Amino acid sequence: MNLILLGPPGAGKGTQAKRLQDGYGLVQLSTGDMLRAEVASGSYLGKQAKEVMDSGGLVSDELIINMISGRIDKDDCKAGFILDGFPRTTPQAEALDSMLQDKGLTIDHVIEMTVDDDAMVTRITGRFSCSNCGAGYHDEFQKTEKDGVCDKCDGTEFTRRADDNAETVRTRLEAYHEQTAPILTYYREKGVMESVDGMALIDDVTEQLNALLG
Ligand code: ADP
Ligand code: ADP
Ligand code: ZN
Repeated sequence: MNLILLGPPGAGKGTQAKRLQDGYGLVQLSTGDMLRAEVASGSYLGKQAKEVMDSGGLVSDELIINMISGRIDKDDCKAGFILDGFPRTTPQAEALDSMLQDKGLTIDHVIEMTVDDDAMVTRITGRFSCSNCGAGYHDEFQKTEKDGVCDKCDGTEFTRRADDNAETVRTRLEAYHEQTAPILTYYREKGVMESVDGMALIDDVTEQLNALLG
């Protein structure tokens, strides 16, 4: 089973993708995570992407399309994958379609997570994750059970993303409305779009997704 999760920054795509990964044995393919790994490794690709990411803009379609195409070819994706943060522009959605055709793959569900813009700033500025295992948390909405200790791995180091600040969030939401929202129409017109209420509690969103996926 191959899925696409769509929604603005902070919609909960990563949170739910991790749960679906564990629940259905799928692989989460987050282009944001891949790019951050490239930046951290100091690769040429990372150097190309860093400035744009810090400003809240979108990295070039060509770079992203090549990166994801190579990733989908890896063995672990054969069990099924969840696209999280890709596609994000019409050219990316079109490139995905032709890439899948070439590879003999199909997407089983395209799911939009609907959320209010007003909630996104609080979601994003409160986001942090475990430095050791990558588990995601929120200052208010998804605290660790024990203060300062990761629920999953007992790690005690946490990180916040450089671009998760109130100023950059605005630019990212603008990028979403201008460049990403049109692909919602693209998938709606193909008649393949499903949606869940991303404003619901985290567990309720998971239940809505499970109901769609069966
Ligand atoms: P995205 O991957 O779409 O950018 P995340 O999954 O990283 O979003 O979620 C953004 C932040 O909001 C995280 O800190 C997460 O813990 C929190 N969050 C995710 N889903 C919900 C929800 N349904 N209600 C409240 N907070 C949520
Ligand atoms: P969020 O879901 O919180 O917006 P991501 O982790 O998906 O964040 O992305 C972080 C940044 O990485 C984006 O602001 C953008 O600069 C870049 N990026 C990630 N995915 C893409 C993509 N598909 N196309 C262009 N840029 C991307
Ligand atoms: Zn951890």
